[in-house]
Amino acid sequence: MIRVRSLTKRYGEHAALDGVDLTVAEGAVYGLVGPNGAGKTTLLSILAGLRRPTAGSVEIDAAVEERAVLPDAPRFDKWLTAREVVALAADLGDVTDETRIQTVLEDAGLAEAADRAVGGFSRGMLQRLGIAATLVTSPRLVMLDEPAAALDPAGRREVLDVVERMRSTSTVLFSSHILGDVQAVCDWVGILDRGKLLFEGPVAELLGNASSRVYLVRVRADVQTVADRLRSNEWVRSVETPAERLLRVDVTTLDAAEQHLVPALAEIGVPVVSVEPEQVSLEQVFLELTR
Ligand code: ATP
Repeated sequence: MIRVRSLTKRYGEHAALDGVDLTVAEGAVYGLVGPNGAGKTTLLSILAGLRRPTAGSVEIDAAVEERAVLPDAPRFDKWLTAREVVALAADLGDVTDETRIQTVLEDAGLAEAADRAVGGFSRGMLQRLGIAATLVTSPRLVMLDEPAAALDPAGRREVLDVVERMRSTSTVLFSSHILGDVQAVCDWVGILDRGKLLFEGPVAELLGNASSRVYLVRVRADVQTVADRLRSNEWVRSVETPAERLLRVDVTTLDAAEQHLVPALAEIGVPVVSVEPEQVSLEQVFLELTR
């Protein structure tokens, strides 16, 4: 859907993008990750046709009217209702099917609030309204700039659920500085840092490459005994006990852990509260990539 080659954007002396190559496959949900100032907004703006690159090429297999962009903080006239906001977007995109407006409001979880003035909406609702207005024209390519950045965890989850539902109908490119969000919904990820693309590939590959292969195990028992028993397995590299009921189990491979960890705990016979892979933070992945 998108092919970007050697893309460079300079603001005076400063290169906000420096020779970026990026490929987004049709139907992908692609997460563009990077810290503040990495160049995410600049890249999305160029793809949206809002800024011109200094050098390089961009090819997009969707006509301009088949693309939609949602800026990071969408604003609406506060006296309009959600339905009116979406109807205006539909009108601008020559969408005449009234049922489409209702459908996108429902998909964005705004059916009940559809006829309320948006002045009283929470940030999460405004963000979902922005997405509804973006989707009403059924774009083939949707670009979302930090759609969940300013939201609390519940609001973030709701926005990510809406993104998840776009998977079947559009190619989605969204930027974020929160790796957890990208992990939750994206199948492909690009890591941008100081204008350079450090990694592009499947999310699983990115996290698999990061050195953290740690499982957090919460138990209702003496952790020392459990730790000692676990250490005797060849697929366990080390076990730490950072808290009274918590073990950090560093394993040789994620595959080995998926296969052996739960059976091993069952064999020890310890009451287990939870077993989960430790979240690899964006910072950790960055350190790995830039080392
Ligand atoms: P954030 O998450 O903070 O929005 P970002 O990854 O979207 O960051 P950009 O907004 O693309 O990053 O900015 C990349 C770099 O280019 C930054 O150093 C920024 O200061 C600079 N920059 C962006 N827009 C302009 C502009 N119009 N004029 C000059 N410099 C700019």
